Amino acid sequence: MSNNLKRKISRKKNLKEEKDANKELQSKLSSIFLPDNCSLCNKVFDKRSREMAMNWMVIADGDTKALICPECWEKSKNS
Ligand SMILES: [Zn+2]
Repeated sequence: MSNNLKRKISRKKNLKEEKDANKELQSKLSSIFLPDNCSLCNKVFDKRSREMAMNWMVIADGDTKALICPECWEKSKNS
């Protein structure tokens, strides 16, 4: 095996480990800071869903965090 090829392979490995570490950090953060359900209708929030993360609202009230699904958010805006 040439040195060049070896270097390429080890670089790839490092990148993957970095990615995994990021993923782990992210899942830790989200499990600490976010509830699992909509605080109003109890709809389940999937923390792995990018779409849900974009559309759901997080409302912070001191240490408490409320999670609001798009439907409830619309309702609360209209009322
Ligand atoms: Zn809701």
